[in-house]
Amino acid sequence: MHGKSAYTKDIILNMCTVFIRHTFILKESCQKVKNIALVSLSITKYDKQETIMTLDFSCSALIIVDIQNDFCPSGELGIKNGDQVIEPMNRLASLFAANGGRVIATQDWHPADHSSFGLWPRHCVQGTPGADFHAALNLKPVSLIIRKGFRSSIDSYSAFFENDRKTSTGLDGFLKALSIETLVLGGLATDYCVLYSALDAVKLGYRTIVVKDAVRGVEAASTEQALKLLDEAGIIFTESGAIE
Ligand SMILES: [Zn+2]
Repeated sequence: MHGKSAYTKDIILNMCTVFIRHTFILKESCQKVKNIALVSLSITKYDKQETIMTLDFSCSALIIVDIQNDFCPSGELGIKNGDQVIEPMNRLASLFAANGGRVIATQDWHPADHSSFGLWPRHCVQGTPGADFHAALNLKPVSLIIRKGFRSSIDSYSAFFENDRKTSTGLDGFLKALSIETLVLGGLATDYCVLYSALDAVKLGYRTIVVKDAVRGVEAASTEQALKLLDEAGIIFTESGAIE
């Protein structure tokens, strides 16, 4: 009888210790939990009312996807209204930079004999004006530029992996080294480089947010399909004005 009560006492003591430890851990990660809760509350499907999304910029990065001349309206692979993504992305880049967040840009960067030419018109050839970022894009807050598709034999839609799905661009290592957990993506095009980058981001464990008013697609049908795939993968949609 005595032994049993000592045993019970031990269990109660253990439970108390566990409880106190958990309370402490919870208190410690309170800010983090609060941020996650806020982001969770802010989950907006692209047809639902937007809510304010409060980010912890210290562990967030903005990824500006391929805002280059050839993907803008007068370019070789011009996307309708592609240049309209610049204004919201510039605003977000300034917001991230002012709050200690990282801003990264990707750049399609093909050799003149790139294997994707044929499937696509010749575009973003290294060193040509078409490969340059659009002049209105503010590059000052950008601390890293990832160039992709620079090998003749392989294309790269995703900011993380080339199209063999194995060759890394190094972006994941960069982000993990900086303890970045949340990625906000916008740019061109919704149905290709934004889509593949966001899907890889989720697979790699990042909380991934796509800015609806800061993306444009090549074709209406594939863009609609891309939004569906992103939604199914758990990507959060928001508007640039809702991020603070
Ligand atoms: Zn390309």
